[in-house]
Amino acid sequence: MNGVLVILEYRGAWNRMSWEALAAGQDIAVKLGQPLMAAVAGDHLEAAIPDLREKVDARAFAVRHGLLGEYTADGFVAAFVQLIHRLDPLLVLFPHTYQVRDFAPRLAARFGQNLIADVIAVEMDSGNPVFVRQLLQGKLNADYVHNGDGPCFASLQGGAFRADTLVAGACPVEEFLPALDASQIRSRPGERFRESAQTVDLSAASLIVSVGRGIKEQSNIPLVEELAKSLGAELAASRPICDNGWLPMERQVGSSGQTVSPKVYIAVGISGAIQHLVGMKGSKAVIAINKDENAPIFEVADYGIVGDLFEVVPALTAAVRKARGN
Ligand SMILES: Cc1cc2nc3c(=O)[nH]c(=O)nc-3n(C[C@H](O)[C@H](O)[C@H](O)COP(=O)(O)OP(=O)(O)OC[C@H]3O[C@@H](n4cnc5c(N)ncnc54)[C@H](O)[C@@H]3O)c2cc1C
Repeated sequence: MNGVLVILEYRGAWNRMSWEALAAGQDIAVKLGQPLMAAVAGDHLEAAIPDLREKVDARAFAVRHGLLGEYTADGFVAAFVQLIHRLDPLLVLFPHTYQVRDFAPRLAARFGQNLIADVIAVEMDSGNPVFVRQLLQGKLNADYVHNGDGPCFASLQGGAFRADTLVAGACPVEEFLPALDASQIRSRPGERFRESAQTVDLSAASLIVSVGRGIKEQSNIPLVEELAKSLGAELAASRPICDNGWLPMERQVGSSGQTVSPKVYIAVGISGAIQHLVGMKGSKAVIAINKDENAPIFEVADYGIVGDLFEVVPALTAAVRKARGN
């Protein structure tokens, strides 16, 4: 067995988590002294191939078949089983997308393995990868090592690895044509799950003011909105704010929201749960306003204000307006 194979996701457009997984795979491959490989499955993959060529500094495979045009777990498992038998990799990595959650455990089981799912970090111990996963809603981190006979399968949490560390290459894309038969596909794809339309691209914002449950009620949101306006910043939020419908889903930052890397991220009344941190830890400077001095957000903050946001935020907005003359 040799090599690190990263399975990417393309459904008419790339899932951005693919590049995070590829960057992580590249890093692990270098540390293990192993070659990197990448693969994507589909029917008409012509539009995906230029990106594969440009981004993958390794061997890349377009796994093509008419029966892979629409995603089914049966089709993807049958196709990737054949690719993995052919390549015999040590390690198979996936972005932890909804699609991967659906088929990757079954794919791993075909090789008598478990999927180490939703990994937030990969460390090295005596030349072996150690996969870190969270347990009990992030209260505990657990280390997993692979000691089975077959390949090791792991999926990587969105936002936990940085796509911008990817060293791009220029590789030829090899076609892999699996033998598939319609009788192998037992399910029929239904209507596609519609993810919220991302009309706000927070990933491009250089200043973000983000609001959390500390704001208490929807009617208080304008307080933080005013601060954002005074700074010319985008308004963002933690998940409970969007789950409550107080702000639209596309403003959510975190593992199930957007990943942002502004110059300044101001977290207002946000505790700093890991699922939030993975979406904003790439920020150049973090300013946290929280009344609890032990809130985990202060561990990642460059500047912290321990205080009541209902006092601090209006004072800050007034000071910004005065300084900027707006
Ligand atoms: C699978 C999964 C995916 C998730 N994805 C995301 C995600 O993408 N993004 C995300 O954000 N979360 C996500 N979560 C939820 C996450 O675990 C936390 O529950 C959430 O981030 C907490 O939001 P919060 O910090 O706003 O609220 P809380 O944890 O309730 O924190 C509120 C904070 O406000 C402070 N506060 C209260 N009153 C005041 C005041 N008057 N002045 C100043 N500070 C005050 C409190 O001290 C506290 O620290 C996910 C969870 C799961 C299980």
